[in-house]
Amino acid sequence: MVKETELRHLRRCVELAAEALEVGDEPFGSVLVAADGTVLAEDHNRVASGDRTRHPEFELARWSAANMTPAERAAATVFTSGEHCPMCAAAHGWVGLGRIVYVSSSEQLATWLAELGVPAPPVRTLPIHQVVPDLVVEGPIPDLAEQVHELHRRFHSSS
Ligand SMILES: [Zn+2]
Repeated sequence: MVKETELRHLRRCVELAAEALEVGDEPFGSVLVAADGTVLAEDHNRVASGDRTRHPEFELARWSAANMTPAERAAATVFTSGEHCPMCAAAHGWVGLGRIVYVSSSEQLATWLAELGVPAPPVRTLPIHQVVPDLVVEGPIPDLAEQVHELHRRFHSSS
């Protein structure tokens, strides 16, 4: 169950995705939250740099490995505007982070991008559970997902 108090983290993810779009990057944003609800770190996509691995979920996984104990990581939640890709899900699993809550699913994203005529990515889209089977994962969040859909529409119509 996604708690009412957690919706603000999800809304922040959508804001971060919008910030990425404003600086010409793909609209993805993520927030790392401790067990007590404290926001520890946040980031948005930075692949416009030319480094296609600069996904926010990957950055947060590495931040958590550098700054949190294994117990703190296991009790933390990563909120994100879009479901983790296989690379980020693997990083999340390897560093032992806890629950993931996403606004829109990878399946939704794949459908949207296909509708927008975007060529298929070089890395296959998979649900998180196919990469990290035992993780607690929640989403999508329909109202907010429509906002994420709109950000992707804007990104691909301007590029
Ligand atoms: Zn990723």
